[in-house]
Amino acid sequence: MVKQIQIKTTDHRPQTTDQKKSVFGLRSLVFGSLVLWFFSSLVLLLFVPLANATDFTPIWSVNTTQLMVALSFDDGPKPEATEPILDILDRYGVRATFFVVGRECSLYPDLLFRIADAGHEIGSHTYAHRTLTEKNALEELSKTNQIIKEITGSPPNFLRAPGGKYSSKVREIAESLGLRLVNWTVNGSDYVRLSSWFELPDDYASLADEIIKEVDQEIRPGAILLFHKSPQTILALPRIIKNIQAKGYKMMTISQLLKEEGTERE
Ligand SMILES: [Zn+2]
Repeated sequence: MVKQIQIKTTDHRPQTTDQKKSVFGLRSLVFGSLVLWFFSSLVLLLFVPLANATDFTPIWSVNTTQLMVALSFDDGPKPEATEPILDILDRYGVRATFFVVGRECSLYPDLLFRIADAGHEIGSHTYAHRTLTEKNALEELSKTNQIIKEITGSPPNFLRAPGGKYSSKVREIAESLGLRLVNWTVNGSDYVRLSSWFELPDDYASLADEIIKEVDQEIRPGAILLFHKSPQTILALPRIIKNIQAKGYKMMTISQLLKEEGTERE
C-alpha cells in the first residue's frame, strides 16, 4: 500500500508489470466503490421517501373484519369534561385515544397525566387549536410534542388536525416530527351546537340521542369514532359503550386497532 502511494506521487520511472497491476487494482477498487455508492444512494433516494409516504397516509379507518373499533376524544384536557369521560371509560373497562390541545395540557398537566396513567393513548391536536398552515405547523406541533413528552414521558405518535384540515406541506412537517395523521370514520357530531357548560340547551337529552343513533348506524369493523367534550357527549357515552358492546365489538386505542390491520374475523 505504501509502495503504491509512492509510485503515484513521487516515482516517475517506467512501472513494472506488477506495479501496473496493483495500480489498476486500486483504480478498479475506487471505481467499484463509487458505482456501489451511487446505486445505493439512488435506491435510498427512490424508495425511502416512498416507504415513508405510504406509512404516513392519513388514517380514516383500519382495514379489518374483526369486531373492533377505536373511540377518540378531541379538544381536552378540560376537567369538567375529561374527568367524567375518564370515569365512564374506567367503569366499562374501555381504553381510548385522546387528541389533546397543548395549551390545555399546560393548564391541566395532572389531568393529562391521569389520562395516560389510566392506559389511554395520547395524540396531538396542536398547541392552540388553530387550523394548521405551512407557517404555523412546526411551532404548533413541536411545542405540543414537547409538552406531552414532559408530562407523560413519551411524545405522541398521532396527530388529528383541527377540523381535519391540512395541506401536503403540513403533512410533511407532521411526518418530520414523527406524527401520523388520523381522521375518523364515524363523526358523532357532538360539537353541533356545542353548548356552554352553564347553559345547557333545552333539547340537551335529544342531542345525546342523536349521537347514539349516529354511532349505531355508522359503526363497522375497524372504525375510528370521533367525539369531543360537550355535555351531550358525556350524557350519551355510557349508552354508546353499552350499544357497541352489545353488538359484540371490542373498543381499543388507535395503536391497538392498527395492529389488527389486515386481520380477518375469527
Ligand atoms: Zn378540535
